[in-house]
Amino acid sequence: MDDPVTVQCPWCGEAFTTFFDASAGSQTYIEDCQVCCQPITMRFLISRSGRTSCQSERAY
Ligand SMILES: [Zn+2]
Repeated sequence: MDDPVTVQCPWCGEAFTTFFDASAGSQTYIEDCQVCCQPITMRFLISRSGRTSCQSERAY
Protein backbone atom coordinates (compact mmCIF):
# COMPACT_ATOMS: atom_id res chain seq x y z
CA MET A 1 0.00 0.00 0.00
CA ASP A 2 1.30 3.43 -0.85
CA ASP A 3 1.38 6.00 1.92
CA PRO A 4 1.13 9.70 1.14
CA VAL A 5 3.86 11.88 2.60
CA THR A 6 4.31 15.62 2.40
CA VAL A 7 7.72 16.73 1.24
CA GLN A 8 9.14 20.21 1.16
CA CYS A 9 11.27 20.93 -1.85
CA PRO A 10 14.82 21.95 -0.90
CA TRP A 11 15.07 24.00 -4.09
CA CYS A 12 11.91 26.09 -4.26
CA GLY A 13 10.48 25.54 -0.79
CA GLU A 14 7.10 24.37 -2.02
CA ALA A 15 5.45 21.47 -0.25
CA PHE A 16 3.89 18.69 -2.26
CA THR A 17 2.55 15.23 -1.62
CA THR A 18 4.15 12.11 -2.94
CA PHE A 19 3.59 8.43 -2.31
CA PHE A 20 5.84 5.59 -1.34
CA ASP A 21 5.40 1.95 -0.60
CA ALA A 22 5.88 1.59 3.15
CA SER A 23 5.78 -2.19 2.91
CA ALA A 24 9.12 -2.02 1.07
CA GLY A 25 10.79 -0.50 4.13
CA SER A 26 13.02 2.53 4.40
CA GLN A 27 14.29 3.65 1.05
CA THR A 28 16.07 6.43 -0.77
CA TYR A 29 15.38 7.56 -4.26
CA ILE A 30 15.49 10.61 -6.46
CA GLU A 31 12.31 12.28 -7.61
CA ASP A 32 11.81 15.51 -9.49
CA CYS A 33 10.01 18.30 -7.69
CA GLN A 34 6.44 18.56 -8.92
CA VAL A 35 6.70 22.35 -8.83
CA CYS A 36 10.16 23.31 -10.10
CA CYS A 37 11.28 19.97 -11.63
CA GLN A 38 14.63 19.96 -9.82
CA PRO A 39 15.90 16.56 -8.64
CA ILE A 40 15.37 15.81 -4.95
CA THR A 41 16.91 12.98 -2.96
CA MET A 42 14.09 11.53 -0.87
CA ARG A 43 14.94 9.51 2.21
CA PHE A 44 11.97 7.68 3.62
CA LEU A 45 12.38 6.34 7.09
CA ILE A 46 10.04 4.04 8.96
CA SER A 47 10.31 3.90 12.71
CA ARG A 48 9.66 0.82 14.79
CA SER A 49 6.26 2.23 15.70
CA GLY A 50 5.38 2.39 12.03
CA ARG A 51 5.53 6.15 11.65
CA THR A 52 6.89 7.36 8.38
CA SER A 53 9.00 10.42 7.83
CA CYS A 54 10.79 11.86 4.87
CA GLN A 55 13.95 13.88 4.59
CA SER A 56 14.55 15.76 1.39
CA GLU A 57 17.77 17.22 0.09
CA ARG A 58 19.08 18.54 -3.16
CA ALA A 59 20.27 15.91 -5.61
CA TYR A 60 23.00 16.78 -8.05
ZN1 LIG B 1 10.80 22.59 -6.16
